[in-house]
Amino acid sequence: MALNQFNINDIRAQFPVLDQQVYGKPLVYFDNAATTQKPLCVIERERDYYLHENCNIHRGVHYLSQMATEAYENARKTVAQFINARQPQEIVFTRGTTESLNLLATSLGQLLVGEGDKVVVSAMEHHSNMVPWQQMLMHSKGQLLVIRMDKNGVLDLNHYEELLKQRPKIVSIAHISNTLGTVNPIKEMISMAHKYDIPVVIDGAQSMAHQVIDVQDLDCDFYVFSGHKMYAPMGIGGLYGKMEWLEKMPPYQFGGEMVDTVSFEKTTFNKVPFKFEAGTPNVGAALGLETAVKFIQSFDRQEVEAYEDELLRYATEQLANIEGMRFIGQAPKRNGLISFVIDGIHPYDLGTIIDKMGVAVRTGHHCAEPVMTFFGIPGTVRASFAMYNTKEEIDIFVKAVDKAANMLK
Ligand code: PLP
Repeated sequence: MALNQFNINDIRAQFPVLDQQVYGKPLVYFDNAATTQKPLCVIERERDYYLHENCNIHRGVHYLSQMATEAYENARKTVAQFINARQPQEIVFTRGTTESLNLLATSLGQLLVGEGDKVVVSAMEHHSNMVPWQQMLMHSKGQLLVIRMDKNGVLDLNHYEELLKQRPKIVSIAHISNTLGTVNPIKEMISMAHKYDIPVVIDGAQSMAHQVIDVQDLDCDFYVFSGHKMYAPMGIGGLYGKMEWLEKMPPYQFGGEMVDTVSFEKTTFNKVPFKFEAGTPNVGAALGLETAVKFIQSFDRQEVEAYEDELLRYATEQLANIEGMRFIGQAPKRNGLISFVIDGIHPYDLGTIIDKMGVAVRTGHHCAEPVMTFFGIPGTVRASFAMYNTKEEIDIFVKAVDKAANMLK
């Protein structure tokens, strides 16, 4: 495939939503960790599906149904190849990271976690990678073990090793923290857990758009993600699982499509991955996800990563000049986002004022309340970047933050 030149104007032209004014100011969209914008090709793919191909899949004998089934299964192949899964069947389509993690907490939990057992997460998890495990453990009277982090937002691997010695049944950790931007050393952490034969789930919500993911190289047992954070539509995401696990795991939801034979006495279940895809899936969004993957693949990934790293470096350098600036998360390896507070100013107030200057950032606890408790703050201001952002936008953002901080002091 011929790669697109990394030309920022061409890229931005594919995201018409960026080209607008809010409150009479050009929009600067720095809330990409919450959701990225969608390129025209993705929007058009979903639209095309509803214009010409819409049909329920897998069960129809007629033309449209067969075409839609083929397209949906091709989308699975594309996603599998994108993350180097061994086979397309190792990809289960879900609504996104949250649903994937709930599926795992329920199904893998049922397979592996008995009374009093333990599950390991880290101190920097999004609620989605913590609450499902916590709730499952409440039922089994088990315990959630939490890997400590230091004040820079770096996980303590010695503590992790201590926790592994307690023989937890599952480890589940974020690849990249959505509040601190820390890139965790997941390959090393996976290999450490495997020495104790413990399967590892990786929450890849923040990494798929920014990093090349190779699940075979990582050797993770599960990798979960959301399409809408990687230029795809909302309502679609995935769960990669090693086939040997998926085959052993019980279904998560029951209904049509996931069954093989049904009688009032007994039901047998469909093969992987259909066993985990009960009911009518979001076909249009899956096709949009496939197009988003192809969009990402149409660039030199190293070039995009270097560009995004440069945005992060530049933003950090510029923000550091603002009086009272305190960065939350200063791990040596960070990606995609920057989180901060300014002495004496509530993040919400700052976010509200810079919004009126056209700058969209996220403020609050970012669905990671324990992280805020750890740092003793109510929340942060978070600016998160995508490949279509520019240094000029960072200049506008930094000026807006400086101005707002002066107004609020
Ligand atoms: N995990 C992480 C690290 C996230 O950043 C997010 C969303 O921000 C989620 C999980 C939940 O993703 P979703 O809301 O798409 O299910």
